[in-house]
Amino acid sequence: MQDYLAGLNERQKEAVLYTDGPLMIIAGAGSGKTKVLTTRIAHLMAKGVDAFHILALTFTNKAAREMKERVERILGNNDARNLYIGTFHSVFARVLRAEAHRIGYPNSFTIYDTDDAKSVVKTVINEMQLDDKLYKPATIYNRISSAKNALVTPLDYVNDYYLQQEDMRANRPAIAKIYDAYCKRCFKNGAMDFDDLLLKFYELLKTFPDVLSKYQHKFRYIMIDEYQDTNPAQYEIVKLLGAMNENVCVVGDDAQSIYSFRGATIQNILQFQKDYDEVKVVKLEQNYRSTQNIIHVANEVIRNNKAQIPKVLFTENQGGEKIRIVQTMTDNDEGKFVADTIQEQKLRNHFSNKDFAILYRTNAQSRAFEESLRRMGIAYTMYGGISFYQRKEIKDLVGYLRLIVNPRDEEALKRIINYPVRGIGKTTIDKILLAANTHNITMWEVLEKADQFGFRSGTLGIIQDFVILIRSCASMLKQHNAYDVAFHVGKQTNLVKELFNDKSTEGLQRYENIQELLNSIKEWVESPDNDEGEVVDKSLGAYLQQITLLTDSDNKDPDADTVKLMTIHAAKGLEFACVFAAGLEEMLFPNAMSINTREELEEERRLFYVVVTRAKEKLWISYANTRYKFGSLVQNDPSRFISELPPEYIDNSYSGGGTRQSSFGYGNTGAAYERMSGGWGSSRFDAATKFGPAPSKKTVPEYLGSKPEAKKVVEHKPSVDFQASDSSDIAVGQRVEHQKFGFGEVLKLEGNQHNKMAVIKFDSNGEKKILLNYARLKIL
Ligand code: ATP
Ligand code: MG
Repeated sequence: MQDYLAGLNERQKEAVLYTDGPLMIIAGAGSGKTKVLTTRIAHLMAKGVDAFHILALTFTNKAAREMKERVERILGNNDARNLYIGTFHSVFARVLRAEAHRIGYPNSFTIYDTDDAKSVVKTVINEMQLDDKLYKPATIYNRISSAKNALVTPLDYVNDYYLQQEDMRANRPAIAKIYDAYCKRCFKNGAMDFDDLLLKFYELLKTFPDVLSKYQHKFRYIMIDEYQDTNPAQYEIVKLLGAMNENVCVVGDDAQSIYSFRGATIQNILQFQKDYDEVKVVKLEQNYRSTQNIIHVANEVIRNNKAQIPKVLFTENQGGEKIRIVQTMTDNDEGKFVADTIQEQKLRNHFSNKDFAILYRTNAQSRAFEESLRRMGIAYTMYGGISFYQRKEIKDLVGYLRLIVNPRDEEALKRIINYPVRGIGKTTIDKILLAANTHNITMWEVLEKADQFGFRSGTLGIIQDFVILIRSCASMLKQHNAYDVAFHVGKQTNLVKELFNDKSTEGLQRYENIQELLNSIKEWVESPDNDEGEVVDKSLGAYLQQITLLTDSDNKDPDADTVKLMTIHAAKGLEFACVFAAGLEEMLFPNAMSINTREELEEERRLFYVVVTRAKEKLWISYANTRYKFGSLVQNDPSRFISELPPEYIDNSYSGGGTRQSSFGYGNTGAAYERMSGGWGSSRFDAATKFGPAPSKKTVPEYLGSKPEAKKVVEHKPSVDFQASDSSDIAVGQRVEHQKFGFGEVLKLEGNQHNKMAVIKFDSNGEKKILLNYARLKIL
């Protein structure tokens, strides 16, 4: 066993050794939070705590794997394989598999990915005969998702005055009904979406005291990394699980909270201290990751945010080089500059590909980098692309497997009922769906009793053959493992043959992908078990549940000697010797979607803090004067964040191939917005739709020039030392000062714990509804 305490500083040691009772570690980037958590797990196990009793929650599967490996290395054995370690979603999916029947789901419930979920939303919207231009499935899905993560049930939703008002304003009063119908449909399909993995587990713990007690006894030690990015559902689950032993250790950095658009709230950090009688708080202040220059810059950047927990971050590392700011003419030049620089650094400073990361705000930016890296012959790995399991041919075969395991799964059934083509056309599918809805049975049940629903005899025969096919595969489930069943399905359905016969390049690729899928199932089946019964489960159901939660980074080799390309969101918790922070342009970073309120802008700044603090030795910050967006050229001004960098740590004399020296020519940012409005908005990545209507693109952001007339806010000059108070215990009748609206009186309180709102009558601005979690409010 390694002497795991030897290399730690005093504070880190203190945190590792403090094993019993609630513990919160709040500290800046690179101060060893994750290291402490890992060491703490090893320490608990070294002390004799059984790995089965330790629950560790990480933000990605990859982080969980790395943590497990490190614990194994420290302990010198493989006991760590028994840890409950993973993302909230993967750990709770595993638990739900054992408990789902308690809440009426099959234990082999299907996990719907976002595509499946959006498809269900679309079906529901169509069946309700609503206009899907107004009720866009993706938007409605995001709203439902936000509601679930805030533990707002359909019933809460319909009774929530604030949400209703918001929907009325957006002219979409039926969202509550869609939400309700969506939940019922998923239940009927025996399916849970990603959010349900939290919500249903929460409901289970709330509803069944014996289940709660079982998991309280099981998870005696709970640890959570990246706590600043947990949402209310996750928070409540942890609170319930930890209530008996109170051995909960959370680790986070409020300055790195970057998921509020998905419902995460740093309130969880503030609340944690109130949830237990005595919370030990440890602050780590020494950064081991980065050079002094990088730390100075990071500290300086984050200082511009008002909302933060005061922290110190210093390093004893060397001063290091200055941060280089590079301006290029175009986005392609930016790509070329980065590739040239990587090449040069490799030659001059003996770096390898894996020492470099190119980090950007939106996935769309990757193209220019990919092209130039390819041209230079530099190996790279791009994260955030489409996952292997999202490919069509994979989803097709998996569709069969899903239906075999869970015949209630309507999305799977619709996907493969006519693939490979067997003569069940759209009209027949609609007829099946109608019959299912009319008789309140599943589509599969309609197929099973097809002779009762008046299908034409030709169609009836085809349907009956299909039913026999699925049943015969399903009959294998009891005696055969996942690989045998999958192999049989591929053969029996002609799916593999169909792909084999397609001799085009794509066809060949698809055929290889199917082989790859079968291989990976085999590998999974043959992988060593852990000591616990439930994980020996090599059934197809268990396999399907775990692949849905894999992301594209899970099948990439983390040790490969390649340059890494990813969004800043995806780079959380990681570190690289050399980092390129790309696309530092107004409207891109900060993103046009996130500059309408101070809260949004501060989140963008935290994102900037995250990217700066990923670098160990060298950091380049680049921006392009122009870039192509949706086929047209847009001009950009440098990001406001560049102007916040302290000049003494900056080298802006740097110029690479195709670039010109930074002139720091700040143009009229308002005009830039004009040029780009309608452009970047939609480039914000997939899940980014916020809870609430998207800010109107026509509104001129507060920071950019004149304010729109409609606002008519009587400007309030807050006192110089304006400090927002904790507004959680605000009461009706209280006098308050709002940073913007001025003085007022609280008339009413509404909403739930996570969405608490106050109706305040302001002396100069009339009545306004204020969300207390976000309000800059002072209680007088
Ligand atoms: P982030 O906020 O980015 O998640 P973190 O606080 O989790 O960062 P770690 O990733 O745990 O920080 O540590 C940052 C780096 O510093 C790692 O390379 C880690 O191995 C190293 N490190 C942490 N503590 C020490 C120490 N006491 N001695 C030497 N190196 C350390
Ligand atoms: Mg970390």
